Amino acid sequence: MNYNKKTITDVDVAGRKVLLRCDFNVPQDKKTGAITDDKRIRAALPTIQYLLDKGAAVIACSHLGKPNATFADFVKKQTEKGKDPATLTEDEWKKSLAKLTLAPVAVRLGELLGRPVIFAADTIGPDAQAKAAALKPGELLLLENTRFDKGETKNKPEFAEALAALAGPEGLFVSDAFGTVHRAHASTAGVAAHLPAVSGLLIQKELAVMGTALESPKRPFVAILGGAKVSDKIGVINNLLEKADTIIIGGGMAYTFLKAKGYEVGKSLLEADKVDYAKEMLAKAAERGVRLLLPVDTAVLDRFENSYEYQVVPADAIPADCMGLDIGPETVKLFSEAIHGAGTVVWNGPMGVFEFSAFAEGTKAVARALAESGAVTIVGGGDSAAAVEQLGFADKMTHISTGGGASLEFLEGKELPGVACLLDK
Ligand code: ADP
Ligand code: MG
Repeated sequence: MNYNKKTITDVDVAGRKVLLRCDFNVPQDKKTGAITDDKRIRAALPTIQYLLDKGAAVIACSHLGKPNATFADFVKKQTEKGKDPATLTEDEWKKSLAKLTLAPVAVRLGELLGRPVIFAADTIGPDAQAKAAALKPGELLLLENTRFDKGETKNKPEFAEALAALAGPEGLFVSDAFGTVHRAHASTAGVAAHLPAVSGLLIQKELAVMGTALESPKRPFVAILGGAKVSDKIGVINNLLEKADTIIIGGGMAYTFLKAKGYEVGKSLLEADKVDYAKEMLAKAAERGVRLLLPVDTAVLDRFENSYEYQVVPADAIPADCMGLDIGPETVKLFSEAIHGAGTVVWNGPMGVFEFSAFAEGTKAVARALAESGAVTIVGGGDSAAAVEQLGFADKMTHISTGGGASLEFLEGKELPGVACLLDK
């Protein structure tokens, strides 16, 4: 896949209307609806600021949550949840939509930017059309939640066309929501059929850092994989075996690999139907001369609990009644040594159950090794990014990818529809 895409600094934006896809999918308090973390809004500011300063009129859009775009969808969802469809009313559906309005985002965005934000009460309807038509250079309009229209997730051409039309004949599409580039939705990919499309600064950075890491990494290239599910990361392991010099496997997924080596793993996380696949990957690594490192010791406990009563045992001696919840100190040494000589490190997935302080040591040690490595360091994956932040190493990393699913698909080497649709450089 070609990651060399035009960005906002490669095109003339002055006097143009720009349809800007942001990721304003912010976490909200369930009861009050208050935004509990505005990181994603703050992340969007440089691109917005740049466009406004250059004299563009910016029409921003985003999805928020997973609204049911129609009453029928609402009834279907609620029925699946066990509700009696006969008791459901359109009023309740509208209330569920009201919770996912982007209006509070418009307010916060205005506060952070220190500029007025015009809010449209619909996405492609009369309010959006009138406000977009009247929008002047240097002004910012935010449209209502794109997923209020079924055309968004279905990537319906009529919806994409109507959205693009808001930017007018000289319009430009700027894609800056990395978290959704792996989805072919109307506002992430469909609109590019109607407008010239370039990346914003956030996506530009993702492409520059991750694209380079995958296509021409500074070597040795070390990939660290962890987390809970082998099945989620199968494609990643397979793709990285063709690119990396060393692959480190820790976390819950390591036990499926230890099992593949013939070790007993007790009550540890195991995907029994993926043991053969793990064997294949071990063989592929040997064949390609990729160094594949697995834990040599592990912290085990007889229950899933944040308890310091754990024992450290060799990886081939896990007691039958115990589960591995973190990598052990010998493994930390082994992994850290491999990381210290690296030119590029890509990390996806914690080394243990880091949410429990007793089992955060392995993840902390790996984060520290990355921070001290001098390598280009890239962290992807929601939990890994959270772990790095929680442990205080965030500002020591070259790049923390903002999209969990998207960064996984990136590492898998899959084509990302929201990137493929952008103009090549
Ligand atoms: P990411 O979001 O970074 O891609 P994952 O979602 O794949 O990571 O995995 C993160 C989860 O894996 C965490 O909740 C963590 O507790 C869990 N995990 C890590 N190691 C183990 C283990 N040994 N046993 C069970 N769960 C584990
Ligand atoms: Mg996760």
